[in-house]
Amino acid sequence: MTNSLPIMAEIWQQTLNWQPTDEQQARFQQLYELILDGNRQLNLTRITEPQEFWEKHLWDSLRGTAPQQKFISSLETGASVIDIGTGAGFPGVPIAMIAPNSQITLVDSTRKKIAFIDKILNELGINHAQTLVSRAEEIGQQPQHREKYDIALIRAVGNASVCAEYTLPLLKKNGLAVIYRGTWTDEETTALEDAVKQLGGEIESIEQFFTPVSNSIRHCLYLRKIATTPAKFPRAVGVPTQKPL
Ligand code: SAH
Repeated sequence: MTNSLPIMAEIWQQTLNWQPTDEQQARFQQLYELILDGNRQLNLTRITEPQEFWEKHLWDSLRGTAPQQKFISSLETGASVIDIGTGAGFPGVPIAMIAPNSQITLVDSTRKKIAFIDKILNELGINHAQTLVSRAEEIGQQPQHREKYDIALIRAVGNASVCAEYTLPLLKKNGLAVIYRGTWTDEETTALEDAVKQLGGEIESIEQFFTPVSNSIRHCLYLRKIATTPAKFPRAVGVPTQKPL
């Protein structure tokens, strides 16, 4: 017997000015059960309690979309979105669940994780998402992916300049990268500025907020692509993490 996810209608409303429909709530529950089940074979997540799963996976994934009104409407009308290092599907799968008109590409370098994502997309009947076993450094240099996306999402994959190097090459001009972080400091912003500039982007905004149940600190960094990324980025596999910009 699996526990039920909380509904949290008021918190959704207050924080995102949005509430899941009954249908979406049922799908969130289904996603939760699929992940608990998948966790028996694969090391997908340590977050398995219903409240914590709701907060740290569902709410956190969707909260990244909140401050940018334009971003939400582009997700609604239909954007091409890529989630780099999606792992068990965060933030990409919850975003796919609320954005049926968008095309979502879920990328991870681990084949087993992508095989699991394929299974959940199938079980949830999500057919506007596709998966890819690859590395950000590789797809960033492939013409079918480079400069092809409106939005690039990345959570818990590496330090911020690594995340910038993974995401900015994939964006069309004016596209938006969303980097999900826990803590963040002004010194880190200063350090990131130069890397982002080299990659053809600028730091558009940084949002600080607290999660609604455990009151944990979060930051989302929004990077706007303003110029073509030089061809040398992203560098070869492993270089961005070994020698961060
Ligand atoms: N985004 C998820 C998972 C984070 S764990 C979440 O927030 O819950 C980091 C994931 O990134 C792992 O699944 C790992 O396989 C993947 N990853 C790490 N480096 C990568 C790279 N260069 N390209 C693609 N995926 C990568």
